Formats: sequence, C-alpha cells, structure tokens
Amino acid sequence: MTDPQRTYELDRKHVFHSWSAQAEITPMVVTKADGSWLWDGDGNRYLDFTSQLVFTNLGHQHPRVVKAIQEQAATLCTIAPVAANDARSEAARLIASHTPEGLDKVFFTNGGADANEHAIRMARLHTGRHKVLSRYRSYHGGTQLAINLTGDPRRWPNDHASDGVVHFFGPFLYRSAFHATTEAEECERALAHLEQVIALEGPGTIAAILLESIPGTAGIMVPPPGYLTGVRELCDRHGIVLIADEVMAGFGRAGRWFAVEHDAVVPDLLTFAKGVNSGYVPLGGVAINEAIAATFDHRPYPGGLTYSGHPLACAAAVATITTMEEDRVVEHAAALGEEVFGPGLTELAGRHDWIGEVRGTGVFWALDLVADRTTREPLAPYGGSSPAMGAVIAACKAEGLLPFANFNRIHVVPPLTISAEDARAGIAMLDRALAKAADSLV
Ligand code: PLP
Repeated sequence: MTDPQRTYELDRKHVFHSWSAQAEITPMVVTKADGSWLWDGDGNRYLDFTSQLVFTNLGHQHPRVVKAIQEQAATLCTIAPVAANDARSEAARLIASHTPEGLDKVFFTNGGADANEHAIRMARLHTGRHKVLSRYRSYHGGTQLAINLTGDPRRWPNDHASDGVVHFFGPFLYRSAFHATTEAEECERALAHLEQVIALEGPGTIAAILLESIPGTAGIMVPPPGYLTGVRELCDRHGIVLIADEVMAGFGRAGRWFAVEHDAVVPDLLTFAKGVNSGYVPLGGVAINEAIAATFDHRPYPGGLTYSGHPLACAAAVATITTMEEDRVVEHAAALGEEVFGPGLTELAGRHDWIGEVRGTGVFWALDLVADRTTREPLAPYGGSSPAMGAVIAACKAEGLLPFANFNRIHVVPPLTISAEDARAGIAMLDRALAKAADSLV
C-alpha cells in the first residue's frame, strides 16, 4: 500500500518537473487508474478528459496491453536494436499496414521529439538541403531541433540556434493571420503565403516542410479541406520532403487512423508516438517512404538510439493496434466526434459566453475561451494564464473532471475508448464548471 503523503513529499524534494516553476507546483498523486477514470491520494475519482498528455488512447490499464507487456517481459525483456525481434517486426508490420500507402519502413525512437529530429535528418540527407519550414502555433517536441521547430511559446527561452528553421503561418480562421472570413479564403491565402515563403527562402535550400496534420497542443486547428493537398503540391513542385507530425493526431485521435486521411494526403515521412501504444512504454517512430528509405540502401543512416524498437514498447504497440482493429476503436472515435462531442460542445457554447469557438473532430476538441466574443480577446494571454482560466480549471476538478488546459483553451481529449455515457457526463461536468467559474468571478 502506498502512502500518498510520502509520495508527494519525496516528489517535491527530489523530482524536477517538466515545463514548471519547481516551487510553484502541487502535483496530484495518482494512486489508481482504470479506463477513463483515475483516483488521487485522497480517494477522489476524476474523469480523465486529458488522456494524460493525449496518449492513453485505450484508457488506463487496458488488460490486453498490460498482459502483452508482462508476457514480453517474461520472454525477452530487452535486446539491442541490431537484432531482429518478434515484437519489433510485428509492430513495424502493423504500423505500416495503417500508415498511408508507400510508407512501409519504420524507424523506432523513444518518443515524438526524437522522431521529428530523425525525420529532419533523413530529409536533409535525402535532399542535400538544409532549411526546414514549420508553422507558428505548433508543437514538435522538447529536444533542441524539435523545440526550434516548435511554433509555441515554449520555443522562446530555448531558441539559441535556429539551425535553418523558418516559421510560417498555417490556416486558423478564428484568429486568421490573413484577415480571411471563410475557410476557403483562409485556405487559399495560407497556401499563397507559404508559396511566398518558399520563394523568398529559396526553394533549392529547403529540405522539408514539417507540420502537424492537425495542430494539437497549439489549439486543435483542423485545417480547411484542400490545405494539406495544397502543401503536398508545393512540396512536389519544389522537391521538398513533406513530413506529417502525427504524434498527437495519429492512431485514431482524429477519427481516422491518421489525420492526413482527412485530406487524402500521403506525406513522405510520418512521425508518430503517443497513441501507437497508448503511452504504456515510451515509443515513437518515423514511417518512411520507399524513395527516402532507398537513400540509405548502400549508405549508412547516420543515426540511432540504444532503445530503438524496445521489445516492451513494441509488444505494447502490437497489443494496442490489434485491439484498435478488433474493437473498431477508430470508428468509435469518429462516431463520438459526430454524435457526442460535436453536438454536445456546440450546445455548451450556446450557454456560455466564454466559449468563442468549438472546433475539432473525432476525440480531439478545443474550446477557445474568450473574455469578449466580439473582439475574440482570449480568456488568458498567449503563453500565459489568468484568474478566469484558473477558476475554470479549479471548477472542473471540483466537479471530478480532469481538464486539459492550455493558455485560453480547454481541450477535450479523453481516451478514444470512452463510452458515450461517460463522454456526456464529462460534458455535463464541464457545463457546471463553466457556470460556477463565471459566477465565482462576478
Ligand atoms: N509532436 C507533437 C505533435 C506532439 O504533440 C508532441 C508532444 O506532445 C511531440 C511531437 C513530442 O513528443 P515527445 O514528448 O514524446 O517527445
């Protein structure tokens, strides 16, 4: 039996936390988790509307994934990447069977940031070019190149050597950089802008365009139809490698196996992590097309990781993907988006003036909270917090809902396996929390 108080005290004494002012945090001690629910040290139960950092796609403690890890541990716990092993071969086969056509080789990493780092390295060596274009309002990971590629405030204190990275504006109608008023206009102007950036940077210097198929942490901004196709065309015209970062949007989150399928686009490289094995053991990777893989047929790929394709992580991926296939988890996620989250959250917006926009798809939704619907002034500043957002978060927790909050947004990102009943219960908790938070500030 664990002692939650001791766990907390040891954490505060010895654990250095990510992205945090160490003296200002009070981490929740989680003592138990099951499906879409978890419990804190005081025995309070919460509905997990976060999937943690949007990775427990099958929920907590899925018995099939837990069993696969246990069995793999008993058979072959670990082995160096140079050796072929069952779990890795099977995971690679399953991943390649779901990635867009032609992405048939998989390079395994420990997570999403290193997947992006390796994808860029492959693109640079393949093209012999150096520059990489990526979007503002994006997140690509915490390692040095990945944080430089990131277009959110976490880059600000970290951007010491941009290393050929150039940022551009992607489509985001609600806060349009192009003064567009329709999705079609936003799409057209965003593509024209990207075309200009390419021309002014010098197409022959650009190795890759890296973008999240649906930017996640930055606000779940589903691109207008035709945008990704337009980016694909620009890449083809200029010999630029298109890298789709599907670390958050992939493996069913957006109601498709991969979010690029919404626009039927085939990238040259696709990076993944999180949902590939529900985050039960760290795993990420790059799915590679034939042309780029062939670059390294007779020339060594100059990169690798000690734990590339770790058997425990790959066994969890095999169990996760097989479960997703057999239980039709992606179809369930798409239906939840259309029947529960879309209508339910839109209805919420009818009752709360704070909700400026509801956007998303599948089990991947954002509420863009505003202080004023006309001016669209965010309820918290970009990169910051506010008493109103603090009140919303506190009210959610008091309702028994664990919310994913980022600046002025609440993201609704529970496990893909959440039942329609729990999803509706969570939306009702959010409803009550928004009302209570608004009352508390009057
Ligand atoms: N790319 C995207 C789209 C992400 O959302 C994340 C993490 O949230 C990453 C990359 C980085 O992944 P990791 O934290 O596993 O390195």
